[in-house]
Amino acid sequence: MNIISQRVQEMNFSQTFVMSNKARELKAKGHDVISLTLGEPDFNVPTAIQEAAIDAIHKNFSKYSPVPGFLETREAVCKKLKRDNNLIYQPSQICISTGAKQAIFNVLAAITNPGDEIIIPTPYWVSYAEMIRLLGGIPISIHTTVESDFKISVSQLEDTITERTKAILYSSPCNPSGSFYTQQDLKEISDCLKKHPSVLVISDEIYEYLVYEDEPFSIAQIEGMQERTAVINGLSKGFAMTGWRLGYSACPEWLAKAVEMIQGQVTSGTNTVAQQAAITALHMSPNEPEIAEMKAAFNARRKLMYDLLQKIPGLQVSYPKSAFYFFPDVSAFFGKSFNNQVISSGDDFSMGLLENKFVGSVGGDSFGNTNCIRFSYATSENLIIEGMKRLSDFITELS
Ligand code: PMP
Ligand code: GLU
Repeated sequence: MNIISQRVQEMNFSQTFVMSNKARELKAKGHDVISLTLGEPDFNVPTAIQEAAIDAIHKNFSKYSPVPGFLETREAVCKKLKRDNNLIYQPSQICISTGAKQAIFNVLAAITNPGDEIIIPTPYWVSYAEMIRLLGGIPISIHTTVESDFKISVSQLEDTITERTKAILYSSPCNPSGSFYTQQDLKEISDCLKKHPSVLVISDEIYEYLVYEDEPFSIAQIEGMQERTAVINGLSKGFAMTGWRLGYSACPEWLAKAVEMIQGQVTSGTNTVAQQAAITALHMSPNEPEIAEMKAAFNARRKLMYDLLQKIPGLQVSYPKSAFYFFPDVSAFFGKSFNNQVISSGDDFSMGLLENKFVGSVGGDSFGNTNCIRFSYATSENLIIEGMKRLSDFITELS
């Protein structure tokens, strides 16, 4: 008898961590590995935030916080949402969580009944489909390709909504494609959703500070949408604070209550030192030099990597407008082999590239698109140049 639950037996390990661990293991064995796997900024946390955390330790912020977070931290989130997004929220609508990951899970757990359909434009971030399935829901993909810049059309959305649709969950800026839904795109999507008033929107805006060719825009800013949208954000990407585990949800009151109830039973209020430091972070505008410098560095890497990728024949690559990922289509190489190993999926390609050229990426299968692989450019320009050279060699040597 297998004691592990059926749902967990059907689960997969997070492929982003699987591939970054593999890259780390090969490095530990002495190989010269270039890991373009994890979406993790390679910068230090801005000094003022570090100091706020040290101060919080000295001030003994060492007891349980309220379940949805300290009032001051939630007020700082409300101020941020007003300053950056022109959205008015009350602290009672905010729940500070252990990363945006938990914030998304809380919202999904609050709404998902077995058999409910949650639409996830594809490629999607690895954990969306797994979380939905774990909760007994059914992830419904809307396929996109490099030609449509990996964005769904309104008619695709209209055709996918059924009476069982509970929500649509997407990231914009998108992990893994780097695409970005503009204000106009979101207006059209909202017009469609207005015909389906029971469908909730879960808008994952964790890469909000990394939009290079436009202004960030949240669907909740569109009239009539805030009351049916859960906005998800956090400090991991914009502030290089992945390990601090600080994310949040901003929800309509009825949903915020359910989210708080779940968090209160599952994890309680998140780390108090991180919550105190978050107050300082949230008061920093994206124009603050330490924040703006990170974005400028990512933008320079984006341009560099695009130039290099474009020069490699056979790769189909879009120029991402945001985040720090490329999601090239490698299907032109399916059927070819390296060291007698035939490549028939993005995952095979990604594994071949790691094992033979020691360049880490994440295969597209777990993002819902087997034709692609994901490169994170949250690493130095030198490593990007060397990584792309090895990628080009790998492709040239395929037989
Ligand atoms: N959403 C997306 C789209 C992500 O790429 C990530 C990766 N970190 C998360 C959510 C989770 O972020 P956090 O570190 O805040 O849990
Ligand atoms: N979000 C990052 C990524 O996609 C970190 C890993 C994870 O949370 O899955 O690489």
